[in-house]
Amino acid sequence: MNSITSLIKLQKVDTQLQEIRELLGDLPIKVDELSQKEKSFVEEIDQAKTRIKEINLDISKKDHNAKVIQVKIQKLKDQLFLVKTNKQYDALSREIDYLKEALDRIETEELEISVEKDTLSEETQERENNLGSLTSDLHERKSSLESLIAESSEKKENLKNERQTIVADVSDSVISKYDRVLSARSGMAVVEVLDSSCSGCGSMVPPQKMADVKKGEGIQSCDVCSRFLYWPTKSD
Ligand SMILES: [Zn+2]
Repeated sequence: MNSITSLIKLQKVDTQLQEIRELLGDLPIKVDELSQKEKSFVEEIDQAKTRIKEINLDISKKDHNAKVIQVKIQKLKDQLFLVKTNKQYDALSREIDYLKEALDRIETEELEISVEKDTLSEETQERENNLGSLTSDLHERKSSLESLIAESSEKKENLKNERQTIVADVSDSVISKYDRVLSARSGMAVVEVLDSSCSGCGSMVPPQKMADVKKGEGIQSCDVCSRFLYWPTKSD
């Protein structure tokens, strides 16, 4: 039996199904994005911590080397007082200069990696703070997604069954037109006539068609947007 009543029911079911889809919305994508972000945060923090350990090791090696050189320089300086010739004095001085340069290099390198370490420590601290809020946000979204899915899956199943029952009652050609209009008109295929106009697109409905819609005879649709038309009852 083709009746506009069936199509009205079908539209109601489809609107509710659409609402469920919108309710879930992009939550699954958002949760996925957050999980990815969390993962890369954890990786970055791990890498930074490994690098900081390397730097600490490097700094203590450089400290040790610097001390060794300082001791050598001091010994050579002491020897300066004991030399007998200018030639010996010059040789010792050159060696001292050479060691001082080496010491400078070590100190410069140490300064550079200390700066790197400070930057990394600061960044890591910030990342760890962000990770905390990211993780709690993620868990919140995940649990709300899970409860939404659980809530809606039963409802969705019932609506799908209801849809099948309605569809079985309507001819294939009407259903295929309905489906076409539904997807072309953003989920609204059945609309009421309001103030002599199609409430879907706003165009005027010709008087004869309006009379047919009002009588509820046959299936009428808007000449402009092709949506099915019905006359609103008081309960609507
Ligand atoms: Zn229309």
